[in-house]
Amino acid sequence: MIQPSMPSASQSPARIIVIGAGVAGLIVAREVARAGMPVTVFEASDRIGGQLASVRIAGIDVDSAAESFATRGGAVAALATELGLAHDLVRPRESPAWLIGRGGRARPLPAASLLGIPADPRAPDVVRAIGPVAAWRARLDAVLPLRRPESYPSVGSLVRRRMGSGVLRQLVAPVVRGVYSMAPDALPLDRASPGMRDALREAGSLGAAVARLRAAGPAGSQVAGLRGGMHLLATTLAEAAESAGAQIVLRARVARADEAGVWLAGGDRVRGHVVSAAAASAGAAVRERTITVATAAVDAAGLHSAPRGTGALIADGVRGMSARALTHSTAKWQWLADNLPAHRHIVRLSYDETPDDPEQTVAADLRAITGVPIDGLLQLDVRTWTRTLQAQPVAAGLDAVGEAASVTGLASIVPAARATAERLSANVRAARSGGAEG
Ligand SMILES: Cc1cc2nc3c(=O)[nH]c(=O)nc-3n(C[C@H](O)[C@H](O)[C@H](O)COP(=O)(O)OP(=O)(O)OC[C@H]3O[C@@H](n4cnc5c(N)ncnc54)[C@H](O)[C@@H]3O)c2cc1C
Repeated sequence: MIQPSMPSASQSPARIIVIGAGVAGLIVAREVARAGMPVTVFEASDRIGGQLASVRIAGIDVDSAAESFATRGGAVAALATELGLAHDLVRPRESPAWLIGRGGRARPLPAASLLGIPADPRAPDVVRAIGPVAAWRARLDAVLPLRRPESYPSVGSLVRRRMGSGVLRQLVAPVVRGVYSMAPDALPLDRASPGMRDALREAGSLGAAVARLRAAGPAGSQVAGLRGGMHLLATTLAEAAESAGAQIVLRARVARADEAGVWLAGGDRVRGHVVSAAAASAGAAVRERTITVATAAVDAAGLHSAPRGTGALIADGVRGMSARALTHSTAKWQWLADNLPAHRHIVRLSYDETPDDPEQTVAADLRAITGVPIDGLLQLDVRTWTRTLQAQPVAAGLDAVGEAASVTGLASIVPAARATAERLSANVRAARSGGAEG
């Protein structure tokens, strides 16, 4: 199927060259090929998918990087449906995520919240989680005059000002750290919640804005996945791109790109219009973040009751726990549990740094977070990923998609990559019908 061969056709400038066979590059390749344009994807590694990847654990292929997507906007589900995966779209089990606070105590994350920001600081589950003093401070949000929403650059600055540092430290920081691997002060508000500024303007307070955004979203979970794992989106996209005529070349690192084409690492020059879908090739990444994901299979009857629901987020600096998040995958995804004996579980722990002794650390963290005795791990896979949070802009005359265009998360990457592909395809159609190409 995907062979490491060079493109055989003469490289006319009408060729599209995609750098990187992650989800963004594959979307462009498929759509441009469907419009009838010759397209070649150069992928540095020996596999397609990028951060959609799998690992075989306990005899099953499970996601080793992205394992779900935000349902907002509907673009990922629409793409999966187009690719024939509609029947494999699944929702995680409804169960609250848990928070392990600084003192090491575990509590369910307050139900009516967004990024850990409570819709109503008076709610009993919020008061239990942060204590009455912090909850009182948070209530000031309802009466404090609202500054211009533009004056809050980050999630941290907004929450600190409106609800106080108790909510920020105890609720928002562990959620943001677990989901985005960064501190709330470093997370741009528009990236975390694109509708928040408008909701603030309309609702007049942060709590009311959260309530409004939650009501506007779909009922139930705001994420979904694919039966079999999110990596199937990449493999299915690659097959569809190749059937449409795209050529995917593995083990082909692009060393340099300009407006007329690329130079491969071996020195070959390939001409065409370049779409960078590889942040690393777009120039030095401006801001990136490494995450270590440890995926383990364990036999532990005590995990059967899902003591931490679908997973837990761990506050910074909790003694005896070095993971920042746990996903209890077999509790989260029914399809995964269905494929394993009842006593067998798959868990994922995320770390900011790779532990020195992963086997020991993962088992100890699992015991501490869940409170379940764990004798040992059946199998363990540890991988470190680099996510680009903000990339260097590409040179004039090149396009960029995905993380190479500083877009992160599948719910944002998919529609943006499709929009770029649609623009390129429209140029092809216009050129064919005698219009201008540009
Ligand atoms: C642990 C983890 C969990 C995540 N969880 C979620 C989640 O739950 N929901 C969500 O929406 N998102 C999640 N993400 C993020 C999401 O997976 C990524 O944002 C998305 O897959 C990025 O796609 P991309 O195509 O832009 O880049 P990538 O997937 O990084 O693809 C880039 C490709 O380019 C190749 N490449 C690099 N340099 C070159 C070069 N010089 N020449 C040729 N090829 C090159 C790389 O090998 C790679 O295959 C997660 C990511 C990680 C790591």
